Amino acid sequence: MYKYAFTNSEELLALCKKHKAPISEIVINYEMEYSKDGRKEVMAKMKKTRDVMDEAIAKAIEKPEKSAFGMAGGDAPKLFKALTSKKKMLSSPLVNRAMAYAAATGETNSAMGRIAAFPTAGGSGVVPGVVLAAQHDWKVSEEKAIRALFNASAVGIIIAEGATLSAAAAGCQAEVGAAVAMAASAATEMRGGTPEECLNASALALKSYLGLACDPLGGLVAVPCIKRNMLGASTAYAASDASVLGVESFIPFDEVVMAMKNIGKIMSSKLRETALGGLAVTKSGIMIRKKLGLPPLKPNEID
Ligand code: SF4
Repeated sequence: MYKYAFTNSEELLALCKKHKAPISEIVINYEMEYSKDGRKEVMAKMKKTRDVMDEAIAKAIEKPEKSAFGMAGGDAPKLFKALTSKKKMLSSPLVNRAMAYAAATGETNSAMGRIAAFPTAGGSGVVPGVVLAAQHDWKVSEEKAIRALFNASAVGIIIAEGATLSAAAAGCQAEVGAAVAMAASAATEMRGGTPEECLNASALALKSYLGLACDPLGGLVAVPCIKRNMLGASTAYAASDASVLGVESFIPFDEVVMAMKNIGKIMSSKLRETALGGLAVTKSGIMIRKKLGLPPLKPNEID
């Protein structure tokens, strides 16, 4: 029905080849067909999303706030200091900036501020972290950064079509894992990589997150969510670097997405957003449950 529609990476790459266009251009056209808006409107809508991302980052870095129960808040400014610190950092300034931005987004979310759920609230830090840090660090044009968000959307569409973006269905691999795969592709297009290199970066990234449990303390999107986003930003760049250096994922991206779906199906419900397993049932997790007034876990609920 839609000339630019795609559900998997094979179809997306065929469209890129046919139109001799980068992934972002295919998604912009898809969005224009789907929404019936013109290019200007479609770009303006994504810019609005980008602006929300920017504001969320600035809020947590400039005016840090602790979240309920003190589980989050205040780490983003610490990370941001890496850019001016005299301490020797092992990661590059770009990676440090992206980690700060990713954490900032999560901290704004956990303090009830406004964020762009890109692709979800829990996984909302990675894409802004990676794309906006690259925009600021490389001083690339606004259009390039907005295009990178369209590129990331393509990967989100493929994961949603082939598996899911829901942690209740497939654990954190579907939230933070998906976000890292999206960001890896976006960063690859931003640096001038080919569509194939973009999706190969996504495959490399997502494979590293397969099987990741969703185990938030007290069921709140704070711990471990924010720090997973923070570190996910560095993985996205690493996957992009490996991809443009010619490291190929033996398993193509569509198959990695299938594997994610398969793992989600066999994953215990205790690891799928119920806060009944993993980190959620550690001593610290139980303490937060108590503070929240949640019912104590029955012995058969903890293996
Ligand atoms: S642990 Fe669960 S709630 Fe937190 S980011 Fe991952 S999927 Fe989302």
